[in-house]
Amino acid sequence: MNADPLTDFSRLCVHTITTKGWDLEEAAEHYAKAGVSGITVWRQWLEGRDPLKAGESIRAAGLKIVSLCRGGFYPAVEEKSRLDAIQDNKRAIEDAAALGAPLVVLVCGAVPEQSLTESRKQITDGIAATLPLAESLGIKLAIEPLHPMYADDRSAINSLASANDVCDKLNHPLVGIAYDVYHLWWDPDLEEQTQRTVESNRLFAYHVCDWMTPTTDLLNDRGLMGEGCIDLRGIRAMVEKNGFSGMIEVEIFSNRWWEKPTPNFLDSILQAYLQHT
Ligand code: ZN
Repeated sequence: MNADPLTDFSRLCVHTITTKGWDLEEAAEHYAKAGVSGITVWRQWLEGRDPLKAGESIRAAGLKIVSLCRGGFYPAVEEKSRLDAIQDNKRAIEDAAALGAPLVVLVCGAVPEQSLTESRKQITDGIAATLPLAESLGIKLAIEPLHPMYADDRSAINSLASANDVCDKLNHPLVGIAYDVYHLWWDPDLEEQTQRTVESNRLFAYHVCDWMTPTTDLLNDRGLMGEGCIDLRGIRAMVEKNGFSGMIEVEIFSNRWWEKPTPNFLDSILQAYLQHT
């Protein structure tokens, strides 16, 4: 492990969606060559592949598989759709086990036709329904609270406090939180809730990018670290002060960056990781 802080990528992980122009093999090859240590695999990158073989080839390239992204989307008005979602989450857990990913990230879901309270109940029930399988395969489940701008149709869990509340209800060592600075940076209770998260041993994943002003697209206008207004160093100090020492995962959806050549984007990520994260 290289201890030189100017070239230390031992905790750097990149999400495959960040380098959208590369398929799984290309991503693994380029990350490893650049010195990136970990990869979070998005499920679309496994389509048409045997997850077992995919896992073997990623590890052979020298990368650590950090998580599988993503499960979730539990709430629905119709019961049939909720049961389908549970089945899909079970498939994600099985794929993670085959891939050799210790964790599935959950974007929990919401539907505008019903109350957030009802959606939160369905999320809690949906996670509970997949816990026996997660337990038997030893896979962790990380609830990712999403920024409130996504409360209508992407997630009814919109703050770290809300995610912690669901974890408290489920009270299971395999259920924790994916902490994404993009979704959480605005929260006046961040320090207190970060402490609650880490002290409960449930900070399972840490995602970074930046917040652009103005944000021109609600989904695909995330910034590279350092381009926006998130206090990345301050938040990292906060999670580390409380004992977090896991991987730092770069997850950027950006039409602007995706238009540029992917190798150049990866170079910029490495620089921004060292300078701003
Ligand atoms: Zn994230």
